[in-house]
Amino acid sequence: MPTFFIEQFGCRATQADGAAIERQLLDRGCTSAATPTTADIVVLNTCTVTASADAQARDAIRRLHAANPAVRLIVTGCYAQRAPEELAALPGVSWVVGNSHKPQIPLLIDSLSSVTPPNSANDFFPVAALHSDSTVPFHSFVGAELAPPNSPHLAKILTGNIFDRAEFLSAPVLGGEGNHTRPTLKIQDGCDSRCSYCVIPFVRGKSRSLPSDRVIEEIRRLTVGQALLPVRSESLRAPLQAREIVLSGINLGTYGRDLSPRVEFEDLLRRILGETSVERLRISSIEPLDVTQDLVDLFASTDRIAQHFHMPLQSASNRILAAMHRWYRAEHYARRIELVHERLPHAAIGADVITGFPGETEDDHAVTLAFIESLPFTYLHVFSFSKRPGTKAAALSNEVPGAIIKRRARELRALGEKKSAAFRQSQISRTLRVLTLHPSNELPDRQTSSLSSNYLRVFVGGVFPANQWLDVRLNSCQGTCLVGRVSESVFLPM
Ligand code: SF4
Repeated sequence: MPTFFIEQFGCRATQADGAAIERQLLDRGCTSAATPTTADIVVLNTCTVTASADAQARDAIRRLHAANPAVRLIVTGCYAQRAPEELAALPGVSWVVGNSHKPQIPLLIDSLSSVTPPNSANDFFPVAALHSDSTVPFHSFVGAELAPPNSPHLAKILTGNIFDRAEFLSAPVLGGEGNHTRPTLKIQDGCDSRCSYCVIPFVRGKSRSLPSDRVIEEIRRLTVGQALLPVRSESLRAPLQAREIVLSGINLGTYGRDLSPRVEFEDLLRRILGETSVERLRISSIEPLDVTQDLVDLFASTDRIAQHFHMPLQSASNRILAAMHRWYRAEHYARRIELVHERLPHAAIGADVITGFPGETEDDHAVTLAFIESLPFTYLHVFSFSKRPGTKAAALSNEVPGAIIKRRARELRALGEKKSAAFRQSQISRTLRVLTLHPSNELPDRQTSSLSSNYLRVFVGGVFPANQWLDVRLNSCQGTCLVGRVSESVFLPM
């Protein structure tokens, strides 16, 4: 069996796919390598959400090939689904496997250990070898004829119609804030919306959900320490008795609409609270109109769901929201924020904002700034518009010049930082329950990094093991963090 390494890019959903591939490979008896340079096969799991994500993947391929020309590179993920021919033409790439065929990568790797690798455009990999115990039929086998005609590098391309895919690839993954402490579980994939700037539906397909029984099973395994999670820098698989679990998806609020019988997202949350011992659940991101009264009431009824709402805004100009094919207007969004703030005045409320969408004027930008200023946001994620081939927005001609986009992004980020600082300041003198995190380099001496329910990074005086609950009284701000001391007792159970 060859050794493998999975190089991850992109969002948590993509990382969950990578973790699932890793789990499948390890279950089949493959051995993981500690570094990409010592592996026989490297699987690059790519993202394509922006042009710079594409560039990052291409750079990584070139770097890996230069460092170890013998390594076989299998490139998969969203970029591989969107533009397989671009990747197939890069040096060192053996296979490009779209998201449509990602579940078959383990079969491909098994076979690579016994079959001579293809070395020309006509030397197709024997598909029959991959069929041996596959339950997923190949839809299409698009050959290297898609590579530029004179390209010296002719990788094989394996991709098909993503909208035909119904299977769900997911395994818990460690990542995000508090890297090694709080696993993320992807429970929903794909999207049925068509925001005009977004390439995701075309590379991830229709919305589909992890069945509720599987969600419960995964959460139980995580909370009792039976799940083995990939940890890159250590033993590659580490058991963890997770106290906080992050639920993620591409469009999480649509969870369960494809299941039969249909399951409402709120009902799934109630079931998790009732049937598992998870101590804190966090929702990664949810579209504003899915933030219903019922959901907010549920959040307010328990301390086992983090008081944290991340709701993509994108713009507060109704003209731009319409051009983006977003289905709400600024006043609807504001109402959802008020709903949260009325019930949970200390909740973290974050938003994604895109600046520089084609046709965005100074007035549109000013409307967005004023809207954000007027609402109790606690942080912002600001993105510059990036033209994605195949989307409606890519065909729009009234592009905003790059220098203007940069300036608007700077202004939005400055506003986001101002709102975050005001929120941190408002929390001083409060006592919050925090979860201690695994140590990171940024940590000051004799302090422990931790995360609150309302998504504040807190440095706690003293050294405590990771993954413990502490009640901490906040007494000052330090950069983008708060500083506090344990108020009374240190305790393990919540
Ligand atoms: S909701 Fe819109 S932005 Fe989000 S994944 Fe779907 S199409 Fe893309």
